[in-house]
Amino acid sequence: MNISHIEHLGIAVENLEESIKYYEDVLGLKCYSIEEVVDQKVKTAFFLVGTTKIELLESTSPDGPIGKFIEKKGPGIHHLAFAVPNATEALKIAEDRGVRLIDKESRKGAEGLNIGFLHPKSTLGVLTELCSKE
Ligand code: ZN
Repeated sequence: MNISHIEHLGIAVENLEESIKYYEDVLGLKCYSIEEVVDQKVKTAFFLVGTTKIELLESTSPDGPIGKFIEKKGPGIHHLAFAVPNATEALKIAEDRGVRLIDKESRKGAEGLNIGFLHPKSTLGVLTELCSKE
């Protein structure tokens, strides 16, 4: 599937504004984008660390995926996202290799990327996202 790098780490947070303060004031990173992804019921904030991003995720609703995650496990690392040339093809390759998919087809995520998730039951417990610009 030609993974080139870790595109981002997704981190579930309870409060986006307070979390941004930690990343900016303590770690000295700069939030360059805040974006709501309505169909995922999240508000996201992005930081660039080299070629890898940190994506903070605050739920906009208790019944969204991040709301449920925080209720079950508390805030923390939520998913790992790899950059690939073509997310749809990479999802197919993963499926052919026996991985259970959350998304059969890629869809639009934050920053206009095409994204799709692999099921953590098939990925050693790590919710894994594949994303591409194409
Ligand atoms: Zn992500």
